[in-house]
Amino acid sequence: MIDANVLKVKNRVTQACIEADCNPADITIVAVSKGRTAQEIEQVTAAGLTDIGENKVQEALSKHEEIKSAHIKWHMVGHLQTNKVRDAVRIFDLIHSVDSLHLAEEINKQSEKINKVQNILLEIKTSLEVTKFGLRPEEAFDIVKELSGFGNIKVLGLMTIAPAVDNPEDARSYFKQLKQLRDELNKSNMQNPGFDVLSMGMTDDFEIAVQEGANMLRIGRAIFEG
Ligand SMILES: *Cc1c(COP(=O)(O)O)cnc(C)c1O
Repeated sequence: MIDANVLKVKNRVTQACIEADCNPADITIVAVSKGRTAQEIEQVTAAGLTDIGENKVQEALSKHEEIKSAHIKWHMVGHLQTNKVRDAVRIFDLIHSVDSLHLAEEINKQSEKINKVQNILLEIKTSLEVTKFGLRPEEAFDIVKELSGFGNIKVLGLMTIAPAVDNPEDARSYFKQLKQLRDELNKSNMQNPGFDVLSMGMTDDFEIAVQEGANMLRIGRAIFEG
């Protein structure tokens, strides 16, 4: 079932991409596997996806240990507490949820200890009421500038969680906002090439996200439940 789901999701991404005039190869599908087993993750990777997302460090550690595959890229998509950073930098290829300078400082410090440059995204609160975590869009400029001086962090782009809406169309404005912010940051931040990741879009709204320029989708239910 999971392999059929993966195929369906890939086809939907391709279709959305054709309509939006983008290249499906430029879009990374992150299978968000919180609450799923290591066996289920292995079915996803057997179906050809290589990017796995978790939202709790502890759960990710034990699956990482159980699966031991060098081919998987692990993504941290949930809120990260400072006291979990030491473990997080050991296993995650990309941390999507950096929402404060304090957290970034800790990631830099712990990454330095293991000689790693940790790839991160800044989590942006595009809807003020709904999501609990994330930087306000206007805070992003200062933090990007600050982080450019950190030797063990590389900021690859932005992430947002759109509020749950009945009609996916209603999520569009949040995605537009995130893309606009990335483009503005790129203009003001010429010294950092490669700042282009837009992690946005989930099961209920990923096609809209693709239309608005997403290049990283975080998809759980459509892959594991169909
Ligand atoms: C669970 C989760 C997802 C995936 O959600 P689905 O609606 O199941 O696709 C994406 N991003 C984050 C941060 C999540 O916690």
